[in-house]
Order: sequence, then C-alpha cells, then structure tokens
Amino acid sequence: MIATVYKRLEECFSEMVDLRRYLHQEPELSFLEEKTPAMIADYLEKLGVEVKRGVGGRGVVGYIKGGKPGKTVALRADFDALPIQEETGLPFSSNVPGVMHACGHDGHTASLLVVAKVLMEHREELSGTIVLIHQFAEELAPGGAIEMINDGCLDGVDAIFGTHLWSMLPLGDIGYNPGPIMAAADRFEIKVIGRGGHGASPHETVDAIAVASSLVQSLQQIVSRQVNPLKSAVVSVGSFHAGGAFNVIADTATLIGTVRSFDPEIQDLVIKKMEQITKGICDAMGASFTLNYEKGYPAVVNHPLETGEFASFAQGVHPGTRVYEMEPIMGGEDFAYYLERVPGTFFFTGAGNIDAGIVYPHHHPKFNFDERAMLISAKLLVGVAVQYLSQREQ
Ligand code: MN
Repeated sequence: MIATVYKRLEECFSEMVDLRRYLHQEPELSFLEEKTPAMIADYLEKLGVEVKRGVGGRGVVGYIKGGKPGKTVALRADFDALPIQEETGLPFSSNVPGVMHACGHDGHTASLLVVAKVLMEHREELSGTIVLIHQFAEELAPGGAIEMINDGCLDGVDAIFGTHLWSMLPLGDIGYNPGPIMAAADRFEIKVIGRGGHGASPHETVDAIAVASSLVQSLQQIVSRQVNPLKSAVVSVGSFHAGGAFNVIADTATLIGTVRSFDPEIQDLVIKKMEQITKGICDAMGASFTLNYEKGYPAVVNHPLETGEFASFAQGVHPGTRVYEMEPIMGGEDFAYYLERVPGTFFFTGAGNIDAGIVYPHHHPKFNFDERAMLISAKLLVGVAVQYLSQREQ
C-alpha cells in the first residue's frame, strides 16, 4: 500500500503547490482565522472525510476510518499566519497588508490536505483510523492546541506525529530527536519603580535606570552561575525602556525578556532566582518593583519509542534525504501539549535552498521554503502513520 501512496503523493505534488500558494495569498492571524478553516473543512468534506468544524474554536478535525480495525493515529498541521508585511516579491505574495505566512504553516496545511486525499483513495487497505488535526493559532499563546485537546481532538488517539518545514535546514535534511526538541518559551516583564528627580541631585532620587541596569547584569548570571552547566536555559532581556530627558532621573524602568528551557525543574529554578535577584537588588537600592512572569508553551518532548520507529523508517523514504538526530531548537511550539497527553514525535523537514535564495529564517519578511519539502513531509507523515497502524494490527 505505502508504495502506491507515495506514488500518488508525487503525482499530486502540483496540487499541493497550488493549495500552498492559495493559502499563502490569504493569510489569517492567530485566533482570527475564518476563511482558512472553512477552506480546509470544505476540501476534506469534498473528499468524503468525516469532518468536525469549530473544534476548540477554529480548528478542523478530519477522521479517515480504514477498512480494517486498528489503532488511531493523529497527524497535525497548523494554519495561522503572522503580523508581518511580506517582502519576498513572490508572484503569490500575501494579499493581506501586514499579514504573512512567514513560518510555513501554509505548507503544513497544503501537505496534510493532499495526504488526506491520497489516504481516502487507499482507505480500504488501512488498518485503523487516521485523525487529521488542522490547528489554528499556533503562533500566539495560549495557542490553539490546548483548546482543541480540551474539545476532544485527541479522544481515542493512540499516537500523534507532526513536522515543521524548516528553512534553516537544507532541503532533504530530516531532523529528529528522541527527547526534547523545542524549548519552553516564557515571557517576563519587570517594572522597576524608583523615585525620579533632577539629574543634578541623584542623592535625592532612586534612579530606576541604575537599578534596572544592575538587574540586567545580574539576570545574566542565572544561567552562567546558577544553572547546572550540563543543563540548558536562556535568559534574554529584549527590551529596556526608561527615561526621556538628559537631565532627569527616571522614575521607572521596564525590562521585557524571554526565558527558554527544556526541563521544568530548570524553569522553576530560573523563575525563583529571577524573583530573588529582582527583590534583592531593588531592596538594596531602595526601589520597588513588579515582576510579571508568563509561562508560554511547555517544551516539546518527544517519546523515544515512536521517535525510534520514525527514525528507522524515514531513511530512504524519499531519494536524497539525510535523516539524523538533531540538536534541539530553543524556539517554542504548542505541539508540546499533544505530546504531554499521547506518545508521538515532532520532527523537522528541511526546506532551505541556498542556490534558490531560500535562506531567510522563520518569521522574516523574506521567509520562504522550497516547496518540494511539502512532498517529503507528506511522505514522512503518512508513512509513519501507516507504519504505526500496520505494526499494531488487531
Ligand atoms: Mn511555526
């Protein structure tokens, strides 16, 4: 069965490209998706797939029940875009000012739609059920995954697989990891409240800029001095705002930044140290503060058994591919929530191409991917699902 599925995917590649380019021209922001889920649901219904609309709000779930009994595997693709003005100059550029598919979710969606089409053609030979999870709002916490799970998209699902097209890996590279592959991505905001005054009389003030500067320096020491060097974490201050005049001591200063981690214990340690350092420095310097720490998506932690099954089968699925264990990426992904509930794996499908000028990172106004990566991701997703089901035939 799988050889003919791959052949059909190759034959349908131009449709995948058409779907992707259509989606690329009509991007929709997280939690505002309307046309995209409607288009997905219509496409699936036309194929005869059993469809649930509005799952968790804006998600679409399709069910392909095989001709033979078996387990249930879910495949996930996200479909939201970003608040970025496109600068690719592509003929199929975004029609929506200030909104762009700059992370490849258009490709994820197109790839999974054609997977659905080809699976429907082979439905009778399938042992078990394949659940197609088309997810809204991956880009914006709290994200669409958690709402779709709460609305039952994983009910009865035994395993889940997903991929991200990745322009930072060349076309043909396939990266997996049997453990954490993406980080927990948190946001913090510290407001230092001092006492403003004349720049000539610092002794009568509490200089919020001086306090916040000490804070920036000390926060760097959490990772370098407090975290076990064999574990990893990132603390980055991305924004520092204070003051407005050369001769006035600033009343307040605001720091905004991100913390990335893979291990919940390290995450808790970083939070605790951040609180202690902020309190200690502000107390010592006579300032007060507010600290607002928002946990984002948890780390994406793959399951070793399913990852191993994926890695062994992925070799040789598509000519010229290189399948290897990759280092984790410090970016975040709400695929994490699915993997907290059911076993499975999330892998990266290389989609960069230096010769074709496809070199820009995700979320860049010139981001693009090599569309041939969609065919590779389709083969990998359908292949791993069919393998999972056939190895567990009932
Ligand atoms: Mn993404």
